[in-house]
Amino acid sequence: MATFLFDSIVFGPVKSRRLGTSLGINLLPTSGKICSFNCIYCECGLNEERKPDRKRLPAAREIDAELRLKLETLMHENNEPDVITFAGNGEPTLHPDFLKIIKNTISARNAYCPGAKVSVLSNSTRIWNKDVIDALNLVDMNILKLDSAVEETVKLINDPNGSFNITDCIEQLKVFKGKLIIQTLFCRGEVNGKHFDNTTESELTEWIVALRAINPEYVMIYSISRDTPINSIKKVSKDELLEIGKRLAENNIAFEIA
Ligand code: SF4
Repeated sequence: MATFLFDSIVFGPVKSRRLGTSLGINLLPTSGKICSFNCIYCECGLNEERKPDRKRLPAAREIDAELRLKLETLMHENNEPDVITFAGNGEPTLHPDFLKIIKNTISARNAYCPGAKVSVLSNSTRIWNKDVIDALNLVDMNILKLDSAVEETVKLINDPNGSFNITDCIEQLKVFKGKLIIQTLFCRGEVNGKHFDNTTESELTEWIVALRAINPEYVMIYSISRDTPINSIKKVSKDELLEIGKRLAENNIAFEIA
């Protein structure tokens, strides 16, 4: 199905179902995707189909200049974004100057649109790096992915690179001492002849145990809303998300359905 890449460093503002009016920042190349996960639902496409021509990442000063220019224009148009969001063609925390970029962005936000939040959508694979931890502790919305607490399901849905394992990740998510938001995408289907479903009873039980240990501000639960690279993935209905929400409420975990 049709997936897409962001073709600039700063993009939007776009209406985001989870964040409101969002001005996006893409720290990855515009010609392809770079990610430490290879999620089967990725709107940018699969890593192997989206290899960038060049792996050069935009420099911190280039990002800062583009962002300030865009914010100046938006302020003249009276079009202040609700949020400045790090997302784009892959995992933003892979940028080696991520901490500096976050500091620059907060300074630009304070200068042009102090009411806007700074948010990062991350897949949680770089939360062992001190600079990344420091950067994520500075932002208003530190949104980290946890699609499942079950190793086999994470392998099927997120297909992590290298030695990533979800047990260690759940442990490490505690480093934020509750100053984080968890994002979980629910879906089911088949990949490489194997069935997966992160909404089953055993999945939800393990996920809730993990959430209780991580203690996030709240959990964003949602399902697929755009085209995905693999046709066999099925969306989870709003009614099912509401049922999952009830389970969270029973466990005193705040949530938002997007
Ligand atoms: S973590 Fe995000 S960018 Fe990376 S593969 Fe998954 S959905 Fe795509």
